[in-house]
Amino acid sequence: MRKDSFLYKIAEDVHHRYGKDVRNLVLVFPNRRSGRVFQRHLAQLSDSPIWSPMITTIDDFFREKSDLVLADPLTQLNILHRVWNETYQFEEPEPFQQFYFFGKILIRDFDLVDKYLVSADRIYGQVRDIKEIDLSFQPDFEEHEALKDLIEYLSKKHDEGSPGQKFMKVWNKLSVLYHAFKKELSKKGLAYSGMLYKEVAIRLEKMSIPEEQHFIFAGFNRINRCEKKLFSLLKEGGKADFYWNEDPFLLNELKKEGGKFLSENLQLFPPAKKTSTDLVQEHKKLEIIPLPFRSLQAQTVIKLMVNTNPKETSGVVLSDEEMLLPLLWSLPENRPAINVSAGIKISVTFAYDLMRDLIELYDEAELNNGEFYYSHLQKIFFNPCFPGLQSKWLKAVKIYKEVDGKRKLVDLRADVYFSPDQINTILPHPLSELLSHTPSGSAELLEKMLKILELAYEMNTEENRDNDQETVNLTQELIRSAHQLLIRLKDTLSEWPEHPDFQLLKNMLRDLAQSRRLPFKGEPLSGIQLMGALESRNVSYDRLILPSMNEGIQPSNPGQTLIPFTLKKYYGLPTAEDEMADQSYYFWTLIAGAKNLTILYDNSSGGGLNKAEPSRFIQQIKYGNFTNWDFASETQLSLPLENNQAGEISIKRTTEIQNQLLKQLKDRGLSPSSFLNFLKCELKFYFNFVIGAGTEEEIAEEVDARISGSILHDLMEELYKPYENKEVATREIEEMKTKLPLELRKKLDKYRKTKGKEIPGHDLVAINYLTKIAKNALDFDSRNTPFTMRGHEKKLKFTKEIKGQEVKFTAKVDRIHEKNGSKIIVDYKTGGDNPEFKPENVMPLPGNEQEKPYQLNSAAIQLFLYCWMLQQQEEDYRTSVLHPAVYATRKFSESFDPYLGIDNGKDKPKTRIDTSSELYKNFTEQFENTLEALLNPNRTFDQTSDEKVCNYCEFKNICMREGKSW
Ligand code: SF4
Repeated sequence: MRKDSFLYKIAEDVHHRYGKDVRNLVLVFPNRRSGRVFQRHLAQLSDSPIWSPMITTIDDFFREKSDLVLADPLTQLNILHRVWNETYQFEEPEPFQQFYFFGKILIRDFDLVDKYLVSADRIYGQVRDIKEIDLSFQPDFEEHEALKDLIEYLSKKHDEGSPGQKFMKVWNKLSVLYHAFKKELSKKGLAYSGMLYKEVAIRLEKMSIPEEQHFIFAGFNRINRCEKKLFSLLKEGGKADFYWNEDPFLLNELKKEGGKFLSENLQLFPPAKKTSTDLVQEHKKLEIIPLPFRSLQAQTVIKLMVNTNPKETSGVVLSDEEMLLPLLWSLPENRPAINVSAGIKISVTFAYDLMRDLIELYDEAELNNGEFYYSHLQKIFFNPCFPGLQSKWLKAVKIYKEVDGKRKLVDLRADVYFSPDQINTILPHPLSELLSHTPSGSAELLEKMLKILELAYEMNTEENRDNDQETVNLTQELIRSAHQLLIRLKDTLSEWPEHPDFQLLKNMLRDLAQSRRLPFKGEPLSGIQLMGALESRNVSYDRLILPSMNEGIQPSNPGQTLIPFTLKKYYGLPTAEDEMADQSYYFWTLIAGAKNLTILYDNSSGGGLNKAEPSRFIQQIKYGNFTNWDFASETQLSLPLENNQAGEISIKRTTEIQNQLLKQLKDRGLSPSSFLNFLKCELKFYFNFVIGAGTEEEIAEEVDARISGSILHDLMEELYKPYENKEVATREIEEMKTKLPLELRKKLDKYRKTKGKEIPGHDLVAINYLTKIAKNALDFDSRNTPFTMRGHEKKLKFTKEIKGQEVKFTAKVDRIHEKNGSKIIVDYKTGGDNPEFKPENVMPLPGNEQEKPYQLNSAAIQLFLYCWMLQQQEEDYRTSVLHPAVYATRKFSESFDPYLGIDNGKDKPKTRIDTSSELYKNFTEQFENTLEALLNPNRTFDQTSDEKVCNYCEFKNICMREGKSW
């Protein structure tokens, strides 16, 4: 129990002032959870049982006082659509499909207009009326300039023939539409939220309140005019008290943002007692963790949850609610007690995914002669609503077939499309039976979806699944809710003259699913609390975990509107700025209560996906003056490692991920470095290549080696430039040696300027070292003269079709020279690379199939890939035998042999390998097979099985791997 929390302080004051006599109190909060927590605090403060006061939310208060019933979003839209066509009388009635999104914006605007008690006739009046509004409006209204701008804007739009003309026609009749819409709803006893608020607000003066009843409003911030009217009336009648969280930080530092509404509220409705947190003075521990992907954040949140102190109160606020189910389903068995009392939107459940995927399956089939795309079909068999079907399906699609006289394992998915009859043959099951009959329209599809959900429910009875009771109950509850949702949709559509197409059906289903929540029940004060952002208002936790703290999520983007900004300003309707200010208030008051806070945000660096920006609140924390906060900066952060197990992170290829991979392969191209990542750790490949997180490393062991290697490349290129395509003899090399000191100095200066970095070690040491390795290389060349230098840094870039996919290959070959008619393909290495290898250490198997990925000889694989690419790209190389060689500058000596070769054991000469060797041929064959594995949509991106690979990996913190010594 936190005695310094905002809600506890209110409970204490109420207890102090009213003692046990609280039964006539009505406590009104912005959200349910605040009420529950307050109630618990009050009970804890009392030494004997008491009658609980009445506790409600402001929304429930208005609903209860209204004679109207809140209509669900689909009903609202359906009625508005009808009224819209009647009002505007277009030549052709606007089809529902086209009206759908526009309709949603209109209802949102009407909602605001009503909640802020603005006259629809005025706000939607004609342009000339705006001047009249100006005269009649309050003279102290601060935004007169805004009105001028608006008039100018609308006048321009109103020019004959301008694109704004239709807008003005629609605009000028919106008040007619607004009244007609409300009339239609009223006839049925229905309302949208704002309409219901306004209806109550108008009658407030006449509202009879029992003499003994007293109201307490607590924890509000931005209040609309209906609420303001209610507060004023009760205050004037001496029937209300108010409590605000007057945190000094908000009032002083964020007065135009998080504290924007607070000062006015304090003036209009002075508090019964000052109750406040103190953000600046409080001590807290804070860490900020950037993580590139939602599933990784979920994994980290679980680890943090497992490590919470059971004696402290703990909360996880899921601003991105889609993280809830992955979290719930990944919790380990020895998990701490959790409570999801906020409920979750049906749209983030897998039962909703099933409904959506079914619509997509048939929608797509319509475009493909009734055949099903395998990936859509597979999503349905993989859905957790059907326990056990995933593995059955995976077994069923792989069959043995006679191919060219041989018995071979064939994957049926390679054919991409399945006919409806085929599904039943491949996997005889009631689900296949249901799927195989294609519905002729949305009405039939809804019936089919209902049957499929009923089947899913049956398959999730206790006898049918291995999971614990809690999981069975939750799955059944999800399926039941999805079923109810479909029945609701079916009922609504039965009243429509025509049925929507599959696309519209999908949108309607999504909107309905977003508007409904699963009613989880729970105890708000024990166990770790998992909740959405709205439910976190006013509550305090010792330990607080906030994932998904990115712009667009927290704070979320403002909703779309048709009302111009200037008009909103003029009428005092909330603007995007106000919405941000409100979110800011609740964010800061939430973290104010925490002693130990962890913030996670997505730091994907793009590479085709939308770049994720950290929340502005993170920036404010970083630059704020919180001297009492113990701040673990992002770079210093280390994560707990003790609960770590290999193989924990596995990224399933969703359609989005697979598409992103294909896009990267097509646009960015696969380099030997990226491919090597795939061989060593498929997850690392995913981070680097698919989502573009981190940096794509050159193939080198250490940072120092990489930097000196890069300078050596440049230096050798520069020195050899005058001799390109010429024969190089000892004399030329001696000449180069004289230029070496000056050229090296130039390269070092260039490196510092372009990279803004210092060379590792002191300059002198660096110069000595680089001079030595460059001299070694030149001496080595001198011993092998004469040769013809063909060039340095040869760029390779070409596209090849692999399994029907366009794949671009890119590389840069360090150097190519010719000696005695042989082409030598050289890679400079400044690390400890070895040109000798065991055959198994150059075989390109995908990471998950590699036995010892850490033993792969990266330099040899890289050189083989250069050879393969050269031969693919240029005829001259295709018809020549290429000799790959590693110029390992640390190893140059009289006896050093740089050519790649098989290590035959101590004291035995190596077997040199060139592109005519059997091993190279096996390599290229295996390479092409591995490319197919890389493209396989059914393959997951898993962590490497060997932690030695993790030694130099920049994602160690995410994987919670320390790496191991060799
Ligand atoms: S830390 Fe290890 S498991 Fe994780 S991505 Fe890097 S190499 Fe793979």
